[in-house]
Amino acid sequence: MNKIEKAEIINKILNQIYPKIKVPLKSRNVFTLLISVLLSAQCTDVNVNNVTKNIYPKFNQPKHFVKLGRKKIERLIKKIGIFRVKAKSIYNLSRILVNDYNSRVPKTFEELEKLPGVGHKTASVVMSQGFGYPAFAIDTHIHRLAQRWGLTNGKSVIQTEKDLKNLFPKKSWNKLHLQIIYYGREYCKARDCYGLTCKICTTCYPKRKKPVITKKA
Ligand code: SF4
Repeated sequence: MNKIEKAEIINKILNQIYPKIKVPLKSRNVFTLLISVLLSAQCTDVNVNNVTKNIYPKFNQPKHFVKLGRKKIERLIKKIGIFRVKAKSIYNLSRILVNDYNSRVPKTFEELEKLPGVGHKTASVVMSQGFGYPAFAIDTHIHRLAQRWGLTNGKSVIQTEKDLKNLFPKKSWNKLHLQIIYYGREYCKARDCYGLTCKICTTCYPKRKKPVITKKA
């Protein structure tokens, strides 16, 4: 079985388990989606949603965060990991959006990745979930599962993104990004299985005898 065939099987199984998929981070508009994704670095989506549910009804535009200032943003998000760094990024990126983008979130990777605190992964999530542009954001779950499923050698997240984009049809990228994350959280956890038990691995790798060594993101 080649990698393309394996990718087809995986896509099919994931569509059976997760025919419809909800975006886990709650937001009100593309700007608050950007803020939530930024906040979710090294923090669970549940924690982010618990904090933002008290913020977004009142503060949901770049101008609101500019007006708040860094210290007040810190206070609002202090239950979130590395909140000082994140507050600084939120304040600075809000200022840039107000001054340079007429308070809108830019629609290109290039512009997004220039914003403070926004890396390629965050930009990919915003492009895909905010603007519907086909993107394949690679987080630690996707990086781990793609290796266990033998779809990449796990050299780097950049390589994983490249490999997955080559294997899966473009129209499935946005959905797959979430399906793989959900599958990783539910079944294929970091410390649990290394490639020997469930349907995806036993179908794609019936002769596999040893666990796969997973490289970190
Ligand atoms: S067999 Fe293990 S590694 Fe493979 S998909 Fe299932 S849980 Fe993940």
